[in-house]
Amino acid sequence: TAATVAAAPEDPLFGLMKAYREDPSDKKVDLGIGAYRDNNAKPWILPVVKKADDAIHKDPSLNHEYLSIGGLPDFTSAAQKLIVGATSPAIQEKRICSLQTISGTGAVHLGGLFLSKFHPQKPTIYLSNPTWANHNQIFTNVGLSLANYPYFSKETKGLDFNGMLQALRAAPNGSIILLHACAHNPTGVDPSQDQWREIAAVMRERQHFPFFDTAYQGFASGDLVRDSWAIRYFVEQGFELCVAQSFAKNFGLYGERTGAFHFVSAPGADASTANSHIASQLAILQRSEISNPPAYGARIASRVLNDPTLFAEWEDDLRTMSGRIQEMRRGLRKRLEAKGTPGSWDHITSQIGMFSFTGLSEAQVKILRDKWHVYMTKNGRISMAGLNTNNLDYFAEAVDSVVRE
Ligand code: PMP
Repeated sequence: TAATVAAAPEDPLFGLMKAYREDPSDKKVDLGIGAYRDNNAKPWILPVVKKADDAIHKDPSLNHEYLSIGGLPDFTSAAQKLIVGATSPAIQEKRICSLQTISGTGAVHLGGLFLSKFHPQKPTIYLSNPTWANHNQIFTNVGLSLANYPYFSKETKGLDFNGMLQALRAAPNGSIILLHACAHNPTGVDPSQDQWREIAAVMRERQHFPFFDTAYQGFASGDLVRDSWAIRYFVEQGFELCVAQSFAKNFGLYGERTGAFHFVSAPGADASTANSHIASQLAILQRSEISNPPAYGARIASRVLNDPTLFAEWEDDLRTMSGRIQEMRRGLRKRLEAKGTPGSWDHITSQIGMFSFTGLSEAQVKILRDKWHVYMTKNGRISMAGLNTNNLDYFAEAVDSVVRE
């Protein structure tokens, strides 16, 4: 067999990270990776995470036993409340089941696997064009067929709302539609609340199944409720849906792989029973794949989510991260406009979350890398967290130069 396996291409994002590390220039700027950096371009341990971590180390009741198949119950129940709201009828009526997963990636995978195995029609899953690159691989791996819906308009650098709605209308009844709950990756472009209402109406009409991916709740706007608005609206509208939730960005727990998968059944007399059947099948899938999830990150998140004082401190930390990113957005736009850099730059501040889709071409991205030591994905996406008050002037100068070239 060995001889028949061809070499796979390197993962583009991890390849970019490597090239950045190996660049000896002291001017280099890393705008590739989607991880928060402080104003000194260093990883940031959230103060509230440090506090919870210290408490865990002092807690004599903890040990290294396995969690249950579904994970830490205090974590999954709090994760559920964070998504749909503590008073949601879906919780009261016991029609949400939740399993702790290997961060957001594991949740997307578990949801994809479940739908692939248990959906009677095994429908096509529709992904936004563009989307987080890993969506394509994950859903292909579980055997779902993939299709795209238009999302980003190159002209306005905003949402191609009509294109999106048309595609949702044209998709076969009962398709699975993957939706980014907030801070769309890679574009930073989200539907407005009115647009979400229209999307929901079309999806109801076509009986589509919403699959929400939420990786930036609280990180996007600094407001946990606002960033979960779309999911809450769909749940209120009585959809059957699922949610893949990551705590990588909003807790800075990237490598601890902390996340959850939630399946919400539509209201109805049998909803709670049907949901418990789904939970039992998800548990078997989970058992066969990871047996049970890792404990450490879930313990940290659980402490914070279940303690009102720590929760309030977490909200402060979220505002610190989202506030710094918003400041960098304003700073970049202001500099480009002051230089009179050709093109319009208002999308830098209207897009939200970790990323901005700059509109720079692949050729411009290459010059930025070769000549200016600025690293970003070749679709022109920049991670706003890589900008800081030390490199903002330099980056604006670099962009101005390549745009004029
Ligand atoms: N979905 C989206 C849209 C993302 O941007 C990410 C993080 N890059 C994830 C899911 C999952 O990341 P993780 O597995 O690290 O939680």
